[in-house]
Amino acid sequence: MLLKKVIGNIINKLFQPSRLEEYSSLLDFAISNGYLLTSLADWYENKFYPGRKVIVLRHDVDFNPEGAYKMFLIEKERNIKSTYYFRWSTAREKIIRAISSVGFEVSLHYETLATYCRKYKIYQAGLVSEEVIKDCRSILSKEVMDFEFKFGKIRTLSSHGEIWNMKVGIPNHILIDTRFYKELGIYFETYDQNVLSKFDKYISDSSIKTNHEWQYGLTPTEAINNQIKCICLLTHPHHWDYGLMQNIKMLLIALRIKLQNIETHIYCKKSNNFN
Ligand SMILES: [Zn+2]
Repeated sequence: MLLKKVIGNIINKLFQPSRLEEYSSLLDFAISNGYLLTSLADWYENKFYPGRKVIVLRHDVDFNPEGAYKMFLIEKERNIKSTYYFRWSTAREKIIRAISSVGFEVSLHYETLATYCRKYKIYQAGLVSEEVIKDCRSILSKEVMDFEFKFGKIRTLSSHGEIWNMKVGIPNHILIDTRFYKELGIYFETYDQNVLSKFDKYISDSSIKTNHEWQYGLTPTEAINNQIKCICLLTHPHHWDYGLMQNIKMLLIALRIKLQNIETHIYCKKSNNFN
């Protein structure tokens, strides 16, 4: 029974067709309803566009930079803007330059604390000392500088959720506070409650595992139909850009993550027993 389910899931993932047409239609629907579609930095620089209906488009590029590029082309064709947050593992120079050269926002989807915890085998919250936070802050400052050196000024930052964050129970954005904003010269971090509270609705996509259902109560179409004034729409290119080769790639990535999870789990169990 379980095997049948696993095989069914793999077949589903392997043959999932592209959803980019659906994404295009969604943008067209928003535009035809009078919405301004823009990036987080632009939204902030224009102090939230008073009097306008706005959808702030945020993309977290977790695994699929080519998919990000395809989404960018769809948006560019419609003369709108958005924000793309790249992890170091997805930061393809050519793609980032193409996206940023026409006024879109690009930035870092940082995972500094998770990387640090993985490296030093820190597997529980109690081991994340002040010293660790301090170290991670200087690493993140350096990452911001490196990213800026390569791709231009960072205006906002976004934290990625990695397996070690879940293990430790602390998100990467614990590293950032208003003092850090000043130091780095950035407007905000996407999980800053002050910023989130400015949105009337926050909506995120989800994976094939959950049938791509929209999260947080409303679909974008419902939010648009309800004329909600300020919407933040988070999408991940790997939930939209499908195709046989891409699907095989994603299956291999999923397998790698599964193995990492098992490895992490065994390590934490061993360490707990030892303690
Ligand atoms: Zn992410």
